[in-house]
Amino acid sequence: MRPIDVAIVGGGPAGLAVAIHAARRGFSTVVFDRQALPADKACGEGLAPPGLRELEALGARQYLTSADCAPIVGIRYLQEDGTDVSGRFAPTPGLGIRRTALASALTRTAREAGVTLRERCGVANVLRSPERVLLTTATGEEVEARLLVAADGLASPLRQAQGLDEPVKPHAPRRFGLRQHFRVRPWSDFVEIHLSRGLEAYVTPAGNERVGVAFLWEDGKVEDAISFPSLLQRFPALRERLEGAPADSQARGAGPFLRKVRGRTLDRFVLVGDAAGYVDAITGEGLTLALRGASALGHLLPEVLARGASRASLVPYERAVARHYWRYALSVRLMLAIARYPALRARVLHGLARYPRLFESLVNFVTS
Ligand SMILES: Cc1cc2nc3c(=O)[nH]c(=O)nc-3n(C[C@H](O)[C@H](O)[C@H](O)COP(=O)(O)OP(=O)(O)OC[C@H]3O[C@@H](n4cnc5c(N)ncnc54)[C@H](O)[C@@H]3O)c2cc1C
Repeated sequence: MRPIDVAIVGGGPAGLAVAIHAARRGFSTVVFDRQALPADKACGEGLAPPGLRELEALGARQYLTSADCAPIVGIRYLQEDGTDVSGRFAPTPGLGIRRTALASALTRTAREAGVTLRERCGVANVLRSPERVLLTTATGEEVEARLLVAADGLASPLRQAQGLDEPVKPHAPRRFGLRQHFRVRPWSDFVEIHLSRGLEAYVTPAGNERVGVAFLWEDGKVEDAISFPSLLQRFPALRERLEGAPADSQARGAGPFLRKVRGRTLDRFVLVGDAAGYVDAITGEGLTLALRGASALGHLLPEVLARGASRASLVPYERAVARHYWRYALSVRLMLAIARYPALRARVLHGLARYPRLFESLVNFVTS
């Protein structure tokens, strides 16, 4: 059998976006996912303006309805003492999107582009050489490809198997997330970030009758047993807003977040999305990074495949991703450093509340 041009492991936003770009350029493209598609996942579900532009360029925005998404005009931080500071996205808003609806829109767009979706088909093993790459599925089927795209998420078994994992220091702080949705009309068109000692709550409108609440915390910094209701107790104003609102999803968690990579490419192998490295969800940019990475790879694919998908042919992709990643990692690390010290964080936000223009510029720097 002829090898597939592009085999993609992982049918999350990163994998599906690469698949759409590849199929539109005329390459035979197959996505393998061990789950049924579209898949749900723990996510804050705020898509920043640049990510929304990528989604529009893919043609997937048209499949989202107001039942499952809502414009987000910016970010608002709210502290325990009642101070708040808001910054608007400029020049265009972002979008809060229920994850299943985003996955569904991307899956539909991928099918229309001619992508073959192999659902409930995990990839168990990969054999790679400069000449080809051979995947073995969990059921023992062997598939040959010219290029393997690993978009298999935060824990990325393929990144580990290919030796691209960079170990995280054993004492590095570990951060986790937990999210759930509620059937209630969104009360704000900002993503609200409620702050408490060692814990943040992200409230994102995700439809005209739905909000998503995602908690992020550092291991050991939250004394209570970790459960959605116990974390919500820490935010009385938010709890009051949600009083009586029926749950619209099961609570779902993820973490630890920090994943480092030695590199993102090898001969005939490339990492995309969370698999390509992740710091934290504190700035809500994972989806944007994933879609941008997919777009960068998509544009380079004709050249990459023409040059045998060698590591050298993938250098421009490494560079493009690194450009976006350093800015993301810098702002995340800065935000984490401030969030770890509540007294410092309170002072910084009080200061920024007096200079709303400066805060707006920072919001747009971080999400641009
Ligand atoms: C609590 C939380 C809040 C967040 N909030 C935001 C936010 O507000 N905004 C934002 O932009 N980002 C946010 N993020 C980050 C965002 O969710 C991720 O960056 C994004 O989902 C990455 O997509 P992906 O396609 O790389 O990975 P995933 O969506 O994780 O997809 C990976 C896929 O690979 C499949 N897979 C894995 N291994 C195999 C295998 N061996 N064979 C076949 N399939 C396999 C899985 O089934 C899965 O479908 C948040 C994350 C968390 C945890």
